[in-house]
Amino acid sequence: MKKRVSILGATGSIGQSCADVIASAPDAFEVCTVTAHENEDALEAVARRLKARRTVLSSRDGREALEQAVQPDTDLTVAAISGIAGLRPLMHAIKNSKAVAIANKEPLVAAGALVKAAAVEYDTQILPIDSEHNAVFQVFNPAQRAGIRRIILTASGGPFRTWSLDEIKKATPEQAVAHPNWDMGAKISVDSASMMNKALEVIEAHVLFDMPAEQIDVLIHPQSVVHSMVEYADGSILAQMGASDMRTPIAYALAWPGRMNTPGQRLDLAKMAGLNFETPDWERFPALRLAYECLQKGPMACLTLNAANEVAVAAFLAGKITFPDILCTIKFALGQEPDISLDTIDSVEKADGIVRARVSTYIKDELSPSMMKVKAV
Ligand code: NDP
Repeated sequence: MKKRVSILGATGSIGQSCADVIASAPDAFEVCTVTAHENEDALEAVARRLKARRTVLSSRDGREALEQAVQPDTDLTVAAISGIAGLRPLMHAIKNSKAVAIANKEPLVAAGALVKAAAVEYDTQILPIDSEHNAVFQVFNPAQRAGIRRIILTASGGPFRTWSLDEIKKATPEQAVAHPNWDMGAKISVDSASMMNKALEVIEAHVLFDMPAEQIDVLIHPQSVVHSMVEYADGSILAQMGASDMRTPIAYALAWPGRMNTPGQRLDLAKMAGLNFETPDWERFPALRLAYECLQKGPMACLTLNAANEVAVAAFLAGKITFPDILCTIKFALGQEPDISLDTIDSVEKADGIVRARVSTYIKDELSPSMMKVKAV
């Protein structure tokens, strides 16, 4: 029996890697739905390549069509939309598929409790695709949960790992998206440069593995070979290693609970010069601290962090604010979290909308004018 797969965000970086893995094993998979937002040609190309039964282009077919994109003919949905826009389609996919493989971390950060509750309600398996969480998933033995001391997420350090604070302050969008190890979409690339990506991943790990913040650590590992680790009470540290190629965690999720060959790169350990680990510099990369503060404060702080970051990153990529302004914007938003209880998707979207509106005004009135002055000089 072929596994029936749907891909939300099929035209993106993760979506295309997923298409590579599926196309490499035509006897193992058939594809039900593929979606994109506005890139119609790329959507048609991926649909043709994978012989998909349905396509949804949300900018043409509407938000509701995207939300309902995954039909009950799906065994496994790959959630690879970028940002909180993926939340409703993900919730619908949890209802309609037996398993969801999640790359789209923002819904987990902003609405983790709702996503997990839906998975329990519909008995749907959640499989992490994000390379760090996929690594943890592979070495986290639930039967030995009481003996797990901590999760150690690794971080490449991004393109500014060795830059001084002064250099980072002047970083341009082109420099921020030039990741040394991974080829990713623009938003996550900027997040990697600010280390906000790792901050989101700390919250994501808390949600996925039910681990308190004090049992989640981050280590800089520039080679991106060890994708993350779990330390047990007896001192054993189990790590998952692999090339910096998202096709490996995607293949893991697609084949779960089995394994499959991938068209991806393989790691040649004998050719490696060494593996380095170092503690992150919280002064040059203050975003990381925010993750722990938000986990301390609760779900609304996590939602606010995510929404403010999404708006700020878009403004940075559009040349409206500077790189350090991203953090200023997030700190501004965290100073005035909406007072709403996050118990439904509607309330999550309402709170998300409030944060976005406040942050957009802040950027327009407080930050963009000074940016114009910088450009004029
Ligand atoms: P991309 O920007 O490359 O792709 C995003 C996909 O989502 C595209 O198919 C895009 O369609 C679609 N999309 C964008 N906005 C909307 C919207 N408003 N409504 C519906 N669909 C939309 O992103 P990535 O593939 O890099 O990342 C996807 C997710 O996976 C993110 O949450 C990211 O954090 C996570 N992730 C990514 C990794 C990577 O290596 N890239 C690694 C780990 C996690 P269109 O092409 O039409 O715009």
